[in-house]
Amino acid sequence: MRTETLAVHGGYDGDPATRAVAVPIYQSVAYEFDSAEHAAALFNLEAEGFRYSRISNPTVAVLERRVAQMEGGAGALCLGSGQAALHNAILALSDVGRNIVSVSQLYGTTHTLFSHVLPRLGVTVRFAAGDDAAEVEKLIDANTIAVFCESVGNPAGNICDLELLANAAHAHGVPLMVDNTVASPVLLRPFEFGADIVVHSLTKFMGGHGTTLGGAIVDSGRFDWRRHAARFPVLNQPDASYHGLIFAEHFGPTAYVERCRNFSLRTTGAALSPLSAFLLLQGIETVALRVERHVENARKVAEFLRNDPRVSWINYAGFPESPYYALAQKYLGGQACSLLAFGAAGGEAHGKQFYNALGLIKRLVNLGDAKSLACHPASTTHRQMTAAEQLQAGVTPDMIRLSIGIEHIDDIIADLDQALGELPTPSSGKIEAFA
Ligand SMILES: *Cc1c(COP(=O)(O)O)cnc(C)c1O
Repeated sequence: MRTETLAVHGGYDGDPATRAVAVPIYQSVAYEFDSAEHAAALFNLEAEGFRYSRISNPTVAVLERRVAQMEGGAGALCLGSGQAALHNAILALSDVGRNIVSVSQLYGTTHTLFSHVLPRLGVTVRFAAGDDAAEVEKLIDANTIAVFCESVGNPAGNICDLELLANAAHAHGVPLMVDNTVASPVLLRPFEFGADIVVHSLTKFMGGHGTTLGGAIVDSGRFDWRRHAARFPVLNQPDASYHGLIFAEHFGPTAYVERCRNFSLRTTGAALSPLSAFLLLQGIETVALRVERHVENARKVAEFLRNDPRVSWINYAGFPESPYYALAQKYLGGQACSLLAFGAAGGEAHGKQFYNALGLIKRLVNLGDAKSLACHPASTTHRQMTAAEQLQAGVTPDMIRLSIGIEHIDDIIADLDQALGELPTPSSGKIEAFA
C-alpha cells in the first residue's frame, strides 16, 4: 500500500477485543498475567503481549506499526517527544568513549543534546563543517556508532544527500540515522536511500495540529549488527540489564528498535501516553492531504517573497537557483518543503519589525501545524549557540523561518504583505528607532 493509504489504515485491522473501527484508547498502566509462567515468558521477551505501559501499550502499538509502515521500516518505537526519541535512539547504541559524526545544520535542541548533554555521558559528537558526505566520512573512526543528519535541516532548509551519507557510513560499518521530521514520509522515505534508522518528532507534520507531543524511532531492519559486532557489543554481547539476552540474536532484524524499547525507554521512561497516541493517529490520517496543501501554499509564498523588494534573500529549495534544487528533485520528488526562511531588506531590525507586525501568522516555535507559523531562530530555537555555531547551523541574525499552513493562500500573503510594511531605507530612521 502507498503512504496515503497506510496513513489511514496502517497497523490496525480493527480492535481484536471489540471490533471497534476507530483505534481505542487503552488507558491502562498494566495488563493481567494468566500465570507466573506467562508473566515470566513476557518478561523474558519470549511471549508477545503487554506488561506495563511504559514499555508498550496497545494504542501506542498501533501508532508504532503505522509509522513503521509509512517509513517502510521493520519496526518502530514511539516515545513522549521527538527529543526523547533522539536521546533514546542514541542511548541504545552508546557506551563511554564512543562518538557520533553529525552534519552541522540541526534543530537547536538536538545541537544542545549533542554538544552539551551526550559529552557529559562520555559520548562525543563530531560536527562536520556542513553536510558534505566527504567531510562527514573524514570524521568516522573505530568508535563511531552513527552518522547523523536531518533529511531536511531545521531551520537551514538544506537537503542532505542521503545516498552519499549512507555510502560514507556503510563503508565503515556505521549506520546512518536520519531525523525525517521536516520532510515527513509523505515527501521522503530515507530507507529508500540507504538510511538505517529514522527518528521523528511526531509533534510536527505527522500530528499536524499543534496539540500533542510525540516522537518515534524507526528501524529499517537492514543494518547487519552481527557483522559489526566489535563496534556494537551492546547488541552482540549478553546484556546484563536483561539477564544475558543478546539482542542481535534474539530479535534479528528488529534488534535495534527492541533495544531502544527494552533497554533505553524502559529505564529512561519518556513513554508516550495512549491518549497522545490516539490524537497523533487522528492527525496522521490526514497528513498526506495536509502536506500537499502545505507545499502548494509554500510555493506561492516563496514566489511572493522572491518578487518583493522588501525581501533581501529567501531560502527555498523549489527555485532552480537554490543550491538544493537538484536534491529536492531527487529526494523530495521535485517538491520543496513548506518550511522556508528569508531575510527582510534592512536586516535584523526590519525582520523583527515584520515579525512583530504579523497578525494571522502566529509567532511561536513549532512547525508543521495546520496554522502558519513564524519564528526568529537566532533569538529562540538556536539561542544557546554561539554566533559561529549559529552560522554553521545555517542561522543568520536576520533569518525569519516560516512554516506555511493550510489556510487560504490569499490570507497568508495578505498578512505577509501588511507585516512587511513600507520598504525601509537606511535614511528613513525607522531601523535605528526600532533598534
Ligand atoms: C521539533 C523537532 C525536534 C524535537 O521534537 P519535540 O517533539 O519537540 O521534542 C527534533 N527534530 C526536529 C527536526 C524538530 O523539528
